[in-house]
Amino acid sequence: MKLILLGAPGAGKGTVAKLLTAIDGSVQISTGDILRGAVQAGTELGKEANGYMTRGDLVPDSLIMGIMEKRLQEADCQKGFLLDGFPRTIPQAEALTELLAKLNIKLDMVADIDVPRDVIFDRLCTRRTCSNTDCQAIYNIKSNPTKVEGICDKCGSPAIQRADETEEAIGHRLDTYNEKTAPVAGFYEKKGLLKKITGTSSDVVVAAIKKQLGL
Ligand code: ADP
Ligand code: ZN
Repeated sequence: MKLILLGAPGAGKGTVAKLLTAIDGSVQISTGDILRGAVQAGTELGKEANGYMTRGDLVPDSLIMGIMEKRLQEADCQKGFLLDGFPRTIPQAEALTELLAKLNIKLDMVADIDVPRDVIFDRLCTRRTCSNTDCQAIYNIKSNPTKVEGICDKCGSPAIQRADETEEAIGHRLDTYNEKTAPVAGFYEKKGLLKKITGTSSDVVVAAIKKQLGL
């Protein structure tokens, strides 16, 4: 499947993407995971992105498009992909349209995961993320805790609160989402690709997406 997952930070895009990869081997491509990996590895990209990310601001479109142009041409994308956290601005959506046309790739659907803001705020404050860049498993201290406090079940690395998951940065990320990313839904609506999916449970969202795709 070739999907874009839209939705506010904390809407569950990452969790839904991971569940969908299990269905047909499509790969999850999370620009947030790629950027956090670059920050930890201390690459040039990471150094450029770090300040924006910690504040809860978006990284410049040019950096993101550079990442995606390479990533979408890797062999594992041929089976399909789930774009998680990209595109996040209208210019990114426009550039992606051009890039996909150039690569002769057609999207199946853009799923807009809709979760109420109070649920999202609460979720982000209690979210924990595995610090191992090859894992980045997601937990929640209330709804999906690690078996041992602070330790990832999958790989044993510390599961931590992300630097941009302070209350202040979360508020800023949600405002940035409303201003810059919410309009991307309208962009795909006009193209007839958008499906709005309402649901606070990832299992329900996955079931709705499967149904839309006829799976
Ligand atoms: P969330 O969806 O929970 O906010 P992500 O892991 O998707 O988190 O993104 C974390 C941060 O990485 C964002 O706040 C932003 O700074 C940066 N980022 C990720 N994807 C993009 C993108 N497509 N465009 C610009 N910045 C991005
Ligand atoms: Zn882990």
